[in-house]
Amino acid sequence: MNAGRPLAGPAAALRRAAGYGAAFRRRARPLHPTATLAQLRSAFCLPLPEAPADGAAVIDALIAAAEPGLVGTTDPNFFAWVIGGSDQVGVAADWLTSIWGQNAGIYQSAPAAAVAEEAVAGWLLELLDLPREASVGLVTGSTMAGFACLAAARGAVLARSGHDFAAGGLQGAPKLHVFLSDDAHASNFAALRFLGFGGANLVRIAPDARGLMPAGALAEAMAARQGPKIVLAQAGHINSGGFEDFVAISALAREHGAWMHVDGAFGLWTRVLPEKTHLATGAELADSWSVDGHKWLQIPYDSGFAIVRDAGAHRAAMDITGGYLSHAPGDGRCPTEFSPELSRRARGFAAWAVLRSLGRQGVREMVRRHCEAASLVAARLAGVPGLEVCGPVDLNQVVLAAARPEAAARINRLAAALNAEGRVFVRPADWRGRRVLRLSLINCKTGPAEAEALAGSIRNAWSQGG
Ligand SMILES: *Cc1c(COP(=O)(O)O)cnc(C)c1O
Repeated sequence: MNAGRPLAGPAAALRRAAGYGAAFRRRARPLHPTATLAQLRSAFCLPLPEAPADGAAVIDALIAAAEPGLVGTTDPNFFAWVIGGSDQVGVAADWLTSIWGQNAGIYQSAPAAAVAEEAVAGWLLELLDLPREASVGLVTGSTMAGFACLAAARGAVLARSGHDFAAGGLQGAPKLHVFLSDDAHASNFAALRFLGFGGANLVRIAPDARGLMPAGALAEAMAARQGPKIVLAQAGHINSGGFEDFVAISALAREHGAWMHVDGAFGLWTRVLPEKTHLATGAELADSWSVDGHKWLQIPYDSGFAIVRDAGAHRAAMDITGGYLSHAPGDGRCPTEFSPELSRRARGFAAWAVLRSLGRQGVREMVRRHCEAASLVAARLAGVPGLEVCGPVDLNQVVLAAARPEAAARINRLAAALNAEGRVFVRPADWRGRRVLRLSLINCKTGPAEAEALAGSIRNAWSQGG
């Protein structure tokens, strides 16, 4: 082999990464990056290396370059966005996924990976109580889950209007309308753009104060338009955590022969809680659902699920066939039939390991703990003069706004003071014309202690002028 390089190189690199990785999660670390952009560039942006380097030394160099630029997204005091904590059992399975190097495109290239996906698909449908006949694509996240589901929707509703999308594409197709809240998650607008839908195809319904589409306004908008229709509903708004009226929306979808998709990236997980099922009642009546794995389930990146009631429509939209991609009678699941890529990571292993280690009880306990922690933060902040907890808190999200005057400046100062203290990581945002502080309580290790401490820090910082 490579006479000039130490024989132990690659194996030493693996051992180095594994040892460092296990220790990393035990260590107290800064939540905020300590390196500036210029420092990160000087560490990473070296002249193109000409000569090979020893693997373990490269791993050491990577650690040294990256660590000062890491964000504490695996920390229980990270509240800035809806980001899961990268469960350690999932990480271990994810390491094995790379070690095994399987290409989970087709059954024959990765039978174990395909069957792990099959198991995960069945478990998910049971946990979320969705139609057991639905197909599940393991994709990179909810953006691509939405993409895959809406691609299936596009083909199906055009077929109902007599247009064969596979043959005719979008050009020459009847005009298709997509109805959704004007305040739906940004990724849905991107997925629709990727699928060939622009502003003229979207009917953006004016939302209520929680960012949700009122069913009455949807009814009027649908009645006013002819032709094929897709309705996109939200389970767990990214800011308010609100849910739309799925029973009413699904009745409208049925009446108009429309396809109903639910963006349930994290909110759909409330379906595991008996005391929260009222929030997403009727979501099971939809035609497709996008759900994340790397948010509430804490599966390491990338993990999302595209769930489609009509497996045939799902397959028709996503399938990649080629003469060299052999299928034999008796083969198991072919993963590429349900997700946009051919060569792909064996995402089923990490998802299987996380679900196997949590079990239904573990998922329930975690979702409940986060909802309770968010309610606790809201309760502790209720009545703080000048600070407003926006709307009911019935999920894991808390949105704070300030009373006028200087509302935006006060929120910015509050966020800056909290971040400067270094005990939490938060970010302000703009929402519906207001500057807000949005808190997402979703890390696997976040619980009542972190919620109490967060509320205490906020009260303290606020009383000192934000
Ligand atoms: C995060 C999120 C998405 C996008 O998911 P990604 O995993 O980031 O691609 C879509 N919808 C909602 C409601 C989300 O919270």
